[in-house]
Amino acid sequence: MSGPVPAEGTVVVVGASLAGLRAAEEVRHLGHTGPVVIIGDEVHAPYDRPPLSKQLLAGTWDVLRVHHHAPDRLDTLGLDFRLGSRVTGLDVAGRSVVTEDGSELGYDGLVIATGARARTLPGTAGHPAVRTLRTLDDCLGLRSDLEAAGAGARVVVIGAGFIGAEVASTCHGLGCAVTVVETLATPLARVVGEEMGEACAGLHRDAGVHLRLGVGVVSIDGGGAPGSGQPTTVRLDDGSSVDADVVVVGIGVDPAVDWLAGSDLVLDDGVRCDERLFAADRVVAAGDVARWHHPVLDADIRLEHWTNAAEGGPVAARNLLAGSGAAEPYAPVPFFWSDQYGAKIQVLGRPAPGDEVVVVDGSVEDRRLVALYRRGDRLAAALAISRPRQLMGYRPLLAAGASFAEAMASAGG
Ligand SMILES: Cc1cc2nc3c(=O)[nH]c(=O)nc-3n(C[C@H](O)[C@H](O)[C@H](O)COP(=O)(O)OP(=O)(O)OC[C@H]3O[C@@H](n4cnc5c(N)ncnc54)[C@H](O)[C@@H]3O)c2cc1C
Repeated sequence: MSGPVPAEGTVVVVGASLAGLRAAEEVRHLGHTGPVVIIGDEVHAPYDRPPLSKQLLAGTWDVLRVHHHAPDRLDTLGLDFRLGSRVTGLDVAGRSVVTEDGSELGYDGLVIATGARARTLPGTAGHPAVRTLRTLDDCLGLRSDLEAAGAGARVVVIGAGFIGAEVASTCHGLGCAVTVVETLATPLARVVGEEMGEACAGLHRDAGVHLRLGVGVVSIDGGGAPGSGQPTTVRLDDGSSVDADVVVVGIGVDPAVDWLAGSDLVLDDGVRCDERLFAADRVVAAGDVARWHHPVLDADIRLEHWTNAAEGGPVAARNLLAGSGAAEPYAPVPFFWSDQYGAKIQVLGRPAPGDEVVVVDGSVEDRRLVALYRRGDRLAAALAISRPRQLMGYRPLLAAGASFAEAMASAGG
């Protein structure tokens, strides 16, 4: 049980991005009068990540546009921002966090919103032509690499997940010669199933992007800074290799929980929370870092979706202030989108390998469709390619745990 946070108490939020910012804003919105301190290790004011693989990388948006608030507005939020400061430890019993400069900060309520960090390929740290894409600095660095490499730069993207696919799409739009390397035989098969993974592969192929599927990377050899004229060689486990001016590694993320080692929290692919997002007494977590028990899905899940951070942050904040006795369960319909090659892919619910997939509108060939996922007699998920309005009709059905028959009836099938 966690008691309510006194109105004049100190709320500390660790992680100054989407979930953390929305949580801190909600604390103020609810009339909390005590200090609200938001600590982030990036030097930048809170910004949005989706444009980093889309508009900002493409150069169609400038940096100001990705920030959640204009600089002068930040000062009006009533929040004590401590940016460029890394939190290194948590003492749950003593209700305090410690930052890398050794200073300790007590709290009456704590929000953990440290998100996730990009995985890297072993042996590539410091390679001048190899990048990951998670932060604003990553994006600006990649953009300048592409500019340095010049027109027709050869880009190898390792990993055909959503971030890799978006980077491939944006680089293709910039006129680069793009190759995507993926260990799975079908991109995204583990996330959206074989059939819809094949449809996503079709988007790359239609654009003329070269897909190397079912192959792993053995090593990344040689190479200098993009534009130096020294290509980097990506060697694959089928004996072939691809030369690149720029290599982008998009092989997933890990929740940022290193700073919680040794605390009493349960760390299990993220911070383990109950269905009200409590991780411990007076401690809640939200966004990419939180694994919580979803009461409707009856499963422990962790989502890496923008909407989950935007919605989960405020729920965590409300629950923290109210205390666990008055807290509400967090039971969103999972949702994410991805923009690739002019197509919008959107997914509601949680598809799983083994679900039966029925296309109820459009077709894979058209690259415009709505597909429903059946698990047992239930509707488990719905996916759309460039059919946003049609997809949203399935949200209430998923929220209500509707049967597949009801979903088919609603589709007119
Ligand atoms: C390039 C890109 C494109 C994306 N596109 C989409 C999309 O199209 N659709 C979609 O649904 N989702 C998308 N996402 C995912 C979405 O952006 C994330 O789900 C969302 O950012 C999660 O927010 P968060 O606040 O939980 O974590 P994060 O945004 O990861 O923020 C956590 C913050 O905490 C900081 N931090 C970590 N550890 C510490 C510490 N010890 N001390 C202090 N600070 C710390 C981090 O540096 C970071 O600033 C995209 C993500 C990326 C990277």
